[in-house]
Amino acid sequence: MLPITSSRSSDGRPTHECGVCGIYNHQDSAKLTYFGLYALQHRGQESAGIVTSDGSKVSIYKNMGLVPEVFSESTIQSLKGHLSIGHVRYSTTGASNITNAQPLMVTHKGITLAVAHNGNLVNSITLRTSMEEKGSIFQTTMDSEVVLHLMARSAHLGLEKALTETFTALKGAYSLLLMTQDTMIAVRDPDGFRPLCLGKLKNGGSGGWIVASETCALDLIEAEYIRDIEPGEVVIFKDGTLTSIFPWPKQSSNFCIFEQVYFARPDSEIFGINVYLARKRMGEILASEAKIDADFVMPFPDSGNYAALGYSQASGIPLEMGVIRNHYVGRTFIQPTQSMRDFNVKVKLNPVRSFLKGKRLIIVEDSIIRGTTGKSRVRALREAGAKEVHMVVSCPPTRHACYYGIDFPSANQLIANNKTIAEIAAYLDLDSLHYLSLEGLVRATGMTDNDFCLACFNGKYPIEPDRSFHKDILG
Ligand code: SF4
Repeated sequence: MLPITSSRSSDGRPTHECGVCGIYNHQDSAKLTYFGLYALQHRGQESAGIVTSDGSKVSIYKNMGLVPEVFSESTIQSLKGHLSIGHVRYSTTGASNITNAQPLMVTHKGITLAVAHNGNLVNSITLRTSMEEKGSIFQTTMDSEVVLHLMARSAHLGLEKALTETFTALKGAYSLLLMTQDTMIAVRDPDGFRPLCLGKLKNGGSGGWIVASETCALDLIEAEYIRDIEPGEVVIFKDGTLTSIFPWPKQSSNFCIFEQVYFARPDSEIFGINVYLARKRMGEILASEAKIDADFVMPFPDSGNYAALGYSQASGIPLEMGVIRNHYVGRTFIQPTQSMRDFNVKVKLNPVRSFLKGKRLIIVEDSIIRGTTGKSRVRALREAGAKEVHMVVSCPPTRHACYYGIDFPSANQLIANNKTIAEIAAYLDLDSLHYLSLEGLVRATGMTDNDFCLACFNGKYPIEPDRSFHKDILG
């Protein structure tokens, strides 16, 4: 799901994209979806929504805000039915728009259809323009709405053929859930860019199922993880059973490796890999690639926590928490005074001055995007009296834009796109800077480079993107 009116997180880091969760065949489907979305909150903080159905009557509620802000006990109770899909959308610092909150829902010839989408369709502009020329009217500026139009047009073919026709027309990244009055459908694109997993509900229903972006959603509601929805798979939940179809020819996967580096929760299993262990291994491999003499290793919580642990254990250099995080930071609309430099960093993270004074530090970061955040962080450590500041990064330099659903800035705003590593180190005022090699990153996952999309590092896009695309293209 790519919103057209969007902006980046205020600290200059890539924002998480969306999260989806669906429940089939459980009398408390809205409540379970709520808890699933709660676990997936890190994937989107701007808006949340749930659609339910009791087999004939469909209910929807969505609003701007975090999951517990959007839903109250009474709202959840009003969402009746054994079937539901939900969505969390990522945060913005610019205009927020309830029209673009998901799930999106339409009724066409008596059939209600709702969609909750994570990813980005690379040919949505072409499809949308061609539909608009033929008279279609779009309610939102979301690429996801194209899915509803295509499904409505193909409805006369019957469900399986309509799904095949719709998703054959789409190009790009989509892990999504569709819902009608009596059916839930989970779809993952043939490249499998974004994760999507299937679990079995343990209590309160016969044969209930959950589909979610990450396994951490299953853990919270004590569902049993069964397997991932495979790349190129469509799973239809109808009449109490589930049917799996593969409309596309088999191809190699292109999992987004950034899910492992940064986006997914460390307690999730993503693409069959435990994220916590993969991040630790990234740190271990970094320690073998970048040997530095220093007093201790430290993360800026929480971005490099697990890679820092791996780096420390592999190098023998002690791990310390030299910066303390304020866990109670919300949004503030009061602007800091001009003299309060680096306010956005300082409000969240404060160095322990008496501990850092005179020390040689290795900071572990999971990524450097624009470099603005890193610059403020290093300055804070220098001001706290650190003698040397080295930085190691648990992925290679991020040089290329993402067209598959991650809110990176355009390539020319990426610091590694127009500076050498030595220039970045100088800009950040570091004593040294080391990135994990691409080979080391892939090795940390235990898979091969054929399994992953690595385009933001090597510029090799698995699906040719529409390079004229920008977020405001549809107004
Ligand atoms: Fe993920 Fe990077 Fe590929 Fe985008 S370009 S899907 S962030 S690996």
